Amino acid sequence: MLKINLVLILVLFTQIYSAELKSVVLCFDDAYYSVYKYGFPLLKEYKIPITLGVITNYLNRSQKPRKSADPYQFMNIGEIKEMRQQLNIEIASHSVSHRNLVHLAENEIKFELEYSKHVLDSIFGEPTITFIYPYGRFNNQVINLVKKANYQLARAVLYGEPNLWVGRYTLAVKEVRKETTINEIIDFINHNKTTILLFHRLAPNPKVFTEWSVDNFHALLKYLRTNNFIRITTLKELYYDWCQTKLLAMARNSPHNDYLNLFQKVDIDQTRTRNPSIIK
Ligand SMILES: [Zn+2]
Repeated sequence: MLKINLVLILVLFTQIYSAELKSVVLCFDDAYYSVYKYGFPLLKEYKIPITLGVITNYLNRSQKPRKSADPYQFMNIGEIKEMRQQLNIEIASHSVSHRNLVHLAENEIKFELEYSKHVLDSIFGEPTITFIYPYGRFNNQVINLVKKANYQLARAVLYGEPNLWVGRYTLAVKEVRKETTINEIIDFINHNKTTILLFHRLAPNPKVFTEWSVDNFHALLKYLRTNNFIRITTLKELYYDWCQTKLLAMARNSPHNDYLNLFQKVDIDQTRTRNPSIIK
């Protein structure tokens, strides 16, 4: 009898545990061509959004189709635009020159933050709200300048679960390296409500630590798509969801009944239309 009860409790616990909705963000740093060559066909097949960290000095400005298919090159504007036409691709700034910001003077840090945002905003026609620290390096001065440059989020390479309430400018990740297994990733997703997976390059036969196997990537996308407790999203969408939650909480606690009505009518930050399905 005790045994049966224990089994029942275990089954119930597993059901509750797996019913919790998890958010997973796939983040690609540096915008390598290999993401277009090997990742894009699979992302299209599974309709999976990503956040792409672009270094504006490295952004290949050639719009022409490339002659050689070296995956170590960077994507060109035409390729990124093509991905954006077919998928939800958030463009994040990964600075102008990928220098370690901690070692720069204030005016240089400002340039890295502001000029890259200006370039990306004008090429892609929408506000860039996420900054990705080169080498994951930051300090308090850098964080303050990121805020001043009008970014809403910043992502580091610290290991762990990202938390927008306490660390909107130091978002943590699970980095995917050559030796990372799918089980390791699934385990991380199962133990955290939100997961940001950090990738660099994809390769059929990974050679360096920043490459991950295309076959593994395919298997991961299949896993993400076939588990309906997983919501695959972008950092930008995470930010908007967080704004909604925060504003809704404020509205519910407000003594003024109009507050909620007003909230339902307005666009949160005038950058895109509020998703009405979230407001009940
Ligand atoms: Zn980088």
